[in-house]
Amino acid sequence: MYFAPRPNGASATAMIAHCLSEGHIESPARLESALESITKVQPDLRDSNDIPLLSDFVNDRLASDQDILLAHSAEFLAEFKRLENGEKIAEPKHFPNCGVNPVTTTYAARAAAGSLLELLSMVGGQNDNSTTQSLLLRGLAVVRPPGHHCTREKSSGNGILNNVAIAALTASKKLNKRVLIVDLDIHLSGGTSDCIKGDDNILLVDVYGARGQEIRTMARLQGRSWQVRESFDNTVAINVSLIDSSAGDHVYLGDQVLGEVLSAVNSHQPNLILFSIGFDSCAGDDEGFEFTANGYGQFIQTVCESAATNGIPVIGVLEGGYKPQIVEKGVRQVSLAMASTITL
Ligand SMILES: [Zn+2]
Repeated sequence: MYFAPRPNGASATAMIAHCLSEGHIESPARLESALESITKVQPDLRDSNDIPLLSDFVNDRLASDQDILLAHSAEFLAEFKRLENGEKIAEPKHFPNCGVNPVTTTYAARAAAGSLLELLSMVGGQNDNSTTQSLLLRGLAVVRPPGHHCTREKSSGNGILNNVAIAALTASKKLNKRVLIVDLDIHLSGGTSDCIKGDDNILLVDVYGARGQEIRTMARLQGRSWQVRESFDNTVAINVSLIDSSAGDHVYLGDQVLGEVLSAVNSHQPNLILFSIGFDSCAGDDEGFEFTANGYGQFIQTVCESAATNGIPVIGVLEGGYKPQIVEKGVRQVSLAMASTITL
């Protein structure tokens, strides 16, 4: 099993240096906790036969301009490069949220997307689906800034580049893969749907559940109705708060959520599954439900087991989740779950 980024490497250091503002909830401590969790869990990883499993970190990599252009527009990239070069822009059109130091932020954003791309190239990224290795591996990228709110034209929320969309479009356009993205962040991604729109190789199942006014506002802004399950573009969006206002493991692991993801595996027939993992759905996060870290593990394990049957590589990437101790617990459970579905 592979992880990214390597602790203390240039990419990890860049992602930890990125700061939106002093005391912001999307903090460097989230990534420090995630990396510490990986270092601690590695000796405990067991494969499906309960045999200790070797794991490693992939090499650092920065997303190139060509990588970014798969998910974002040329105008977006042009402004990104102006910020990257230290140009002061009074009101950036595409980047309203570049943090206290845009040069540091843009570098961290290239490192975040690049880490996921390097993981993709190691875990099922080959364009030959018959390789044995690609059938065996799992990967987890713990990165920041997160990406799933960023659209083709605009960075959004706490993100700069849409990491998961760049990876999915790389897999689709360059490796000829069919990709299923499963988004478990509490917030509707919005950005990922926008970036993948029109690419029928990619299907997004977006499991979200922001409560109250926020969800009404988001739905209205996106011109959508407000239902348990909606399909639009290349997206199926499932609102768990409408299934049960205090949704716990029984909801996430039930027919309307996990069942829907498993049927997407059957109907879409992906040869790569990407999980956008936001731990802000987790019990203990300020916006979380009663979905536990164990529940995340069970959810991902069940999907990985169905993927193992079908020989599909699975990669997770960190999105939201704002309590470092919750991120630490979640990363541990997800890592154990992914490893336990590897058969050597
Ligand atoms: Zn979120």
